[in-house]
Amino acid sequence: MKIVETARELSDLSRSMRQSGQKIALVPTMGALHGGHRSLIHVAQQHAEFVIVSIFVNRLQFNIEEDFATYPVTLEDDIAICRSSGVSALYMPSSESMYPESFATSVEVSGLTARFEGASRPGHFSGVTTVVTKLVTASAPDIAIFGQKDFQQFAVLRKLMTDLDIPVDMVMAPTIREEDGLALSSRNVRLNKDSRRRAVSISQGLFHSLSLFQSGVRDTHELVEPVRQICSDEIKNIDYIAIVDAQTLEDVSEAHAGDVLLFAGTLDGIRLIDNIIFCA
Ligand code: AMP
Repeated sequence: MKIVETARELSDLSRSMRQSGQKIALVPTMGALHGGHRSLIHVAQQHAEFVIVSIFVNRLQFNIEEDFATYPVTLEDDIAICRSSGVSALYMPSSESMYPESFATSVEVSGLTARFEGASRPGHFSGVTTVVTKLVTASAPDIAIFGQKDFQQFAVLRKLMTDLDIPVDMVMAPTIREEDGLALSSRNVRLNKDSRRRAVSISQGLFHSLSLFQSGVRDTHELVEPVRQICSDEIKNIDYIAIVDAQTLEDVSEAHAGDVLLFAGTLDGIRLIDNIIFCA
């Protein structure tokens, strides 16, 4: 596995792989790798011969300084996971090389970023879209893999690639969960025992709603309220529970297969998001 630290090295490497006929996939991450990331790598390997993983804790997308300062960093383990997963190249730029003092550009997607994570975390999506534009420009992949776990992020990034005519196929990989249903997340290590126990109510609520949908319930209120009931005893700070169209992220009054139930809440200062896509 090659480890590269500058955008120039990455684009040189990507160019030579393309010239040798290899298809290139990019898996952007902020490190503290877990089973969710490993599954994105696996999906990438099914689509491309040359898989690039990036690890960069992107300060620009943190709207709370403390969240950035306490974000878990496990570089040695991450490198070992990438090696054992058969990753072709690992891109680990420093903050200085990504954002030198003279850095003055930001990439913004309007509309899709106005609600949900965008409303609750001002500046978050412009940080995401700016860094992903840089990562995709440097690596010039054929495809990029992102997790369903961050559903709004995927919708925003897909819009970015379309609007800027960036020729990258966007692939969404399913959410990987703990045995009890909690979606894997790098931030989960910050949950204490009590919060960890409470957090499971999120997936319980979401899957209960999915089973209501599968038994024929379509009314949004009837699909959302049970989630609120299941979660509200455990999670005092629910930010949003909403059912939206998967492309526009606009509310629907009747749920259809393919619509998404989005959840965000905070437990002991730790923001947790999750979602499910309704299916028959
Ligand atoms: P992060 O390192 O948290 O920025 O996430 C990097 C990528 O991994 C994003 O595309 C996330 O959506 C994805 N991801 C995070 N958690 C999971 C999970 N539990 N299952 C699948 N993908 C995930």
